[in-house]
Amino acid sequence: MDLNYSADDRAFREKTRRWLEANTPTDDLKTLAERKAWHRKLYEAGYVGMLWPKEYGGWGATAMQQAIVQDEMARIGAPPAINGLGIGFIGPTIIVHGTEAQKQRYLKKMLTAEEIWCQLYSEPNAGSDLAGLKTRAEDAGDHFVVNGQKIWTSSGPIADWGILLCRTDPKAAKHKGISCVLLNMRQPGVEVRPLKQITGHSLFSEVFMTNARADKSDLIGKLDEGWAIAQTTLGYERGGNSLGRVTRYAIAFRQLVRATKQLRRNGRPLIEDPVVRAKMGRLYAELEVQRYAGLRVLSALNKGDSPGAASSITKLSYTEFEKRYYDTALEILGPWGQMMTAREEFEEIDTSSGEAGTWATAFLWARAGTIYSGSSEIQKNIIGERVLGLPKEVRADRLRS
Ligand SMILES: Cc1cc2nc3c(=O)[nH]c(=O)nc-3n(C[C@H](O)[C@H](O)[C@H](O)COP(=O)(O)OP(=O)(O)OC[C@H]3O[C@@H](n4cnc5c(N)ncnc54)[C@H](O)[C@@H]3O)c2cc1C
Repeated sequence: MDLNYSADDRAFREKTRRWLEANTPTDDLKTLAERKAWHRKLYEAGYVGMLWPKEYGGWGATAMQQAIVQDEMARIGAPPAINGLGIGFIGPTIIVHGTEAQKQRYLKKMLTAEEIWCQLYSEPNAGSDLAGLKTRAEDAGDHFVVNGQKIWTSSGPIADWGILLCRTDPKAAKHKGISCVLLNMRQPGVEVRPLKQITGHSLFSEVFMTNARADKSDLIGKLDEGWAIAQTTLGYERGGNSLGRVTRYAIAFRQLVRATKQLRRNGRPLIEDPVVRAKMGRLYAELEVQRYAGLRVLSALNKGDSPGAASSITKLSYTEFEKRYYDTALEILGPWGQMMTAREEFEEIDTSSGEAGTWATAFLWARAGTIYSGSSEIQKNIIGERVLGLPKEVRADRLRS
C-alpha cells in the first residue's frame, strides 16, 4: 500500500471541511424536493460525480479527493447525495456502452438529480441467478413492447428512468438473448408497488410492466448482448472504496463508547464491565482492519488500478463486519439498543442507505449489505473462481446421483 496525503490533498480537505461546515443543513431533509435541493448544492460545489469525465458534467477528480469528501461528509453528518444508483453505476455503464446521443440525453440530468434512476435487474426467480430473468421485450419496429415483473427495485417509488435487463431472444441460451434498455418509469404500462422493509421504510418496490414501451434508440450496446453490460454495472456496484462507511462506523463507535459510559449495570458504568470491554476491544480492532482494507483499495484506485473481481473480497468483508458490528452493539446495549426512535444519548446514525436511524435501524439495515449486489455466498463463489482460480461451482441440480 502506498498512500500519502499530498499538500494538495490536505488543502482540499480543509476547503471541503469549511464548505460543509458553512452549508450542511441543520434541519432534517424531509421531502424529496429538499433532498434534491441539497443534492444540487453538493453537485454545484463539485462533490457529486467527482470521478465522472468533465465532458459529461463530472469533475474529473481523483479517487483520493472523493474519499476525502466521503470522509468529511460522514464526519459532519451531512445528508448524502441522492440518485446513488444512477451516479454510482448506471451512469458509468452508459459512459462505457452508450451512444453519444444517449450520453448527452441522460447523464447530466442524472448528476443533477433532475431525473432519478433505478435498476431493473432482479426478478422473483432471478436474483443470484440473474440470467434466469424472464421479462420479455418484443420488437415493434421503432420500439420494444415490454412485459414482465421486477422486484427489489431500490428507489423504484421515486424513479423517472430505469436500466432494464430483458429477454429479446427467448430461444437463445440463458446468458444470450438478453438485452439492456432504458425504460421510462413515468408511463401507463409501468406500475410501481412499494415494498415494506423490516426497518419500516419503503425504499424499494416491485415493478410490473404491461405492454410498456422502450424506444430502440434507448437500447444500450447491441441487441441480445446485454449480459456483458450487466457485468459492467455489477463491477461498478461492488467496486469503489468503503472509506466513507468506515468513517460512519467509527462515529457510531464513539457514540457506543459514550452510551456505555452513561448506561449503568449493577451500579457501575457499563464500560467498566470486563465482558463489555472485551467485546468493544474486538469491535475496535475489526474496525481498524476495515479502515486499512479501505485504504488498500484507495491506494490501488489512486494508482489507476481497477480492483476487478477482488472488489468481491472488500464487499464480503465489510458487509459481514457490519452485521457483526451492530449485532455486538445491540448485545452490549440490551433493551436500549432496541429503540426504533432516536433519544439524545443515542444520537442518530447514518446507515449505509443514507437513512438516519437508531442502533436498531442500523442493525436491521445491516442485513441488506450481505444480499444486494450479489449475496455473500455469491461473492465467495466469485472469489473462489476468479480470484483464487479454484474449479467452477457445480450446481446441485446438475450433479448426477
Ligand atoms: C436492500 C436491497 C436493495 C436491492 N436493490 C436492488 C435494485 O435496485 N435492483 C435490482 O435489480 N435488485 C436489487 N436487489 C436485489 C438483489 O440483487 C438480490 O436480492 C440478490 O441478488 C439475491 O437474489 P434473491 O433475493 O433472489 O435471492 P436468491 O438468489 O434466491 O438467494 C437465496 C439464498 O440462496 C443463496 N444462493 C443462491 N445461489 C447460490 C449459489 N449458486 N451458491 C451458494 N448460495 C447461493 C443466496 O446467497 C441466498 O442466501 C436489492 C436487494 C436488497 C436486499
